[in-house]
Amino acid sequence: MYLFTSTAAFHAWTASAPNAATVLVPTMGALHDGHASLIRRAVTEARTRSLTGGCVVTIFVNPTQFNNPSDLARYPRTLDADLAICEAAGAAAVFAPNEADIYPRDTPIVVPPLPSVATQPALEDAFRPGHFSGVCQVVARLFDLTRPRAAIFGEKDWQQLQVIRAMTTALALPIDIIPAPTLREPDGLAMSSRNRFLDPASRTRAVAISRALREAGREPTPAAAEARLRQVLAAAPGGPIEPEYAVVRDADSLGPTQHPHSPCRALIAAQVGTVRLIDNAPWPASAL
Ligand code: AMP
Repeated sequence: MYLFTSTAAFHAWTASAPNAATVLVPTMGALHDGHASLIRRAVTEARTRSLTGGCVVTIFVNPTQFNNPSDLARYPRTLDADLAICEAAGAAAVFAPNEADIYPRDTPIVVPPLPSVATQPALEDAFRPGHFSGVCQVVARLFDLTRPRAAIFGEKDWQQLQVIRAMTTALALPIDIIPAPTLREPDGLAMSSRNRFLDPASRTRAVAISRALREAGREPTPAAAEARLRQVLAAAPGGPIEPEYAVVRDADSLGPTQHPHSPCRALIAAQVGTVRLIDNAPWPASAL
């Protein structure tokens, strides 16, 4: 597996095999089994499509998507462990650029117009203003630098997945956006780089999030499902969780649900102790 820490080195590699198309897995590092599953999926996808460049993982903690400076400052940086995970999962190369490669001072980086799915009321944009501008900015830049044939994004960040899909369509990029399922801890908690910051009491409370999604999945209507989400969160073991949002929305637009005419998604964001957690599941459920 190759490691490239500059665009020049990465481009020297791609220039050496100009027809070797790749599948991209963009990450911010601090990799866990969920990320490894995305990499394995990319390796399989590349093999199935005979894309001889294989899987390229990018590792870049993107400052423009953090609206909270302390969240950025404490974001875990674990490059050596990340490289071991990438190699074990079969990545062909890791591209870990520095900030000047992504945001060169002398080149204005265009922020693509935000698709409407990014700004649906009372979801991520309401609590992390500017977050999706930063996500679109960095993903568009990474796509431009790496030119993959396909890219894998986790369903864990459901709204992000829809935003990237919409952006890719709007920019008419020849890149297939492939969703990958959420990997969970044995008790249901969605794996996340931020879980390591949960103190033991918060870790216990956090399990209510996936439980809420699971129980809501069995309710007959979106309204009943939303009520169940709030009820299970309020009864979290060790103290109630007050969500930033706990809603059922249209799965694609993230607007009001069109049930029963199109698929729906239940989504939760909540601050648990010092950690902000997000999770989601199809509604009605599902094999959570
Ligand atoms: P991150 O670096 O954590 O922002 O995420 C990089 C990619 O991994 C994104 O496409 C995420 O949706 C995905 N991801 C994060 N957590 C998980 C998980 N538990 N299972 C599967 N994919 C995940």
